[in-house]
Amino acid sequence: MALIVQKYGGSSVWSTDRIKHAARRVVAAHTAGHEVVVVVSAMGDTTDRLLGMAREVDPVPPPRELDLLLASGEQVSNTLTAMAIHALGARACSLSGPQAGIVTTSVHGEAHIVDVRPERIRRLLDHGAIVLVAGFQGVCRETGEVTTLGRGGSDTTAIALAAALKADVCEIYTDVDGVYTADPRLVPTARLLRHLTYEEMWELAAAGARVLALRSVEHAWRYGVTVHVRSAQGDGPGTVVSDRLREVREPVLVGAAAPAGAGPEVP
Ligand code: ADP
Ligand code: ASP
Ligand code: MG
Repeated sequence: MALIVQKYGGSSVWSTDRIKHAARRVVAAHTAGHEVVVVVSAMGDTTDRLLGMAREVDPVPPPRELDLLLASGEQVSNTLTAMAIHALGARACSLSGPQAGIVTTSVHGEAHIVDVRPERIRRLLDHGAIVLVAGFQGVCRETGEVTTLGRGGSDTTAIALAAALKADVCEIYTDVDGVYTADPRLVPTARLLRHLTYEEMWELAAAGARVLALRSVEHAWRYGVTVHVRSAQGDGPGTVVSDRLREVREPVLVGAAAPAGAGPEVP
């Protein structure tokens, strides 16, 4: 039995049909005997639409209100995914970021995760439930306010949870088959990379490959979380990011050079 954290990006929960598809994958992992924690992003372009509406009513929205608004996007997809899992006959419990014990700094819109208190998730897992956590959000202990983690922040939620729970793997389900030598939507000749070290993935993310948010790669690197980037639709092998060197060394081409010497303070 493994403990698996699965993260589904916005395009993977774009519609209720896609949510049902993701739910079937979650339940399959649970039925196979694994403990499963699921992190979901907001449905499709919800975050952009919420940002647009906020600016329609107030050109400079108060950061506190904006964060509370944006956090609601992930709560919609999270609860709907829990319901889709329930409809398949499995036990599911959804938690907001604060309920899941995600503690952050106070900076609205760009908060950093400073602590993860996974006790509640652990108890739910011990009772056989699939636990769903709304991505991209947490709570600041000092201010008591809900914060968001910056764009792409659900990746960071998933990897931070995987580290805190000592998960065997963090699976990132997205709209491409894995990590490529360049953005496959822009460069048709880009090749799928089957295995990357943290450092190689960090360079790609720093150069703008948003398939994994930069901060999430830094968390994975710091805590040694094995990350498996896969397609939410297909069943391809995807890309494993870990500290094991790839068997066959091949040059990793990046779209732009990473700033020299700008690596994170990680081993
Ligand atoms: P999600 O909603 O699942 O978080 P994102 O849009 O944040 O998905 O990230 C996936 C996108 O990242 C892909 O659709 C692709 O266009 C882009 N991308 C950029 N660079 C790369 C790369 N090197 N490998 C794979 N995808 C990349
Ligand atoms: N919904 C947030 C965003 O669009 C977080 C995420 O998708 O990871 O950036
Ligand atoms: Mg993303």
